[in-house]
Amino acid sequence: FSAASPSDSVVITGASTGIGAACALALDKLGYRVFAGIRNPADGERLQQQAGPRLMPIRLDVTDPASISAASHTVAAMVGERGLAGLVNNAGIGVAGPIELLPLTDWRRQFEVNVFGLIAVTQTFLPLIRTGRGRVINMGSIAGRASMPFMAPYAASKHALEAITDALRLEVQPWGIRVALITPGAIATPIWGKTRKDVDTWDATWSQDLKNMYKEGFTRIKEAATAAGEQAQPAGIVTAAVAHALGSRWPKTRYLIGSD
Ligand code: NAD
Repeated sequence: FSAASPSDSVVITGASTGIGAACALALDKLGYRVFAGIRNPADGERLQQQAGPRLMPIRLDVTDPASISAASHTVAAMVGERGLAGLVNNAGIGVAGPIELLPLTDWRRQFEVNVFGLIAVTQTFLPLIRTGRGRVINMGSIAGRASMPFMAPYAASKHALEAITDALRLEVQPWGIRVALITPGAIATPIWGKTRKDVDTWDATWSQDLKNMYKEGFTRIKEAATAAGEQAQPAGIVTAAVAHALGSRWPKTRYLIGSD
């Protein structure tokens, strides 16, 4: 069922955990040569233990221009003139909190990773993407299409990806490069735990009642995500969407929710 040729190479950012790790492993299985963006070597070693010998972890912090540049040189040297079949912009964080109170530093942190990081990676890797057949796949979210109280930073960053993806699609169309946005619903991954942890670090001036209120709200969201995750695991749903966007077919049964 795989449509990948052995020389089809793909870069995935944020491949240490969750959806990115699931995609890296699935695309490796589909026959792609996967450059898996990680930030610490231990994550790379863990991925390599689960993957075939061709998966290559690369240090790639999307907020660090030097790291992006170094990663692009490594990838360029390895793919040569054939270029990249795809770039999967998956790295992301979730910052949550009420607009009324959330400090601008938290907004900046959100946009540094989800928006400016994605732009910097895209700018650097775009010249490596094969003309005529290459793809860029951005990881949006249902939060980029819905109204989400207390999740404005995250939702705004994902709304921004909608506009960036639409514009990029038109800009690179003449080169035959396709651009897709994938917008998953709630998937059980570590991002929910991290978002919740943010609540504990919120401004010390906030009342405990306010903190408790948001903690309770996030516990409910997390429970819903876990329930959804039991039915729609990343490997079963989101990776299939990524594989399709790259031009590979996925076994039909894998569309079924819960089939992993
Ligand atoms: P996750 O926390 O498991 O994965 C996020 C990844 O991004 C991690 O590997 C993390 O190390 C990486 N990352 C964070 N900051 C980075 C940086 N500065 N440079 C490079 N990598 C960085 O969570 P996930 O759910 O797998 O999230 C992956 C993507 O899917 C995100 O863009 C997220 O917004 C999106 N998404 C998740 C859900 C969900 O419910 N889990 C739903 C819709 C969209």
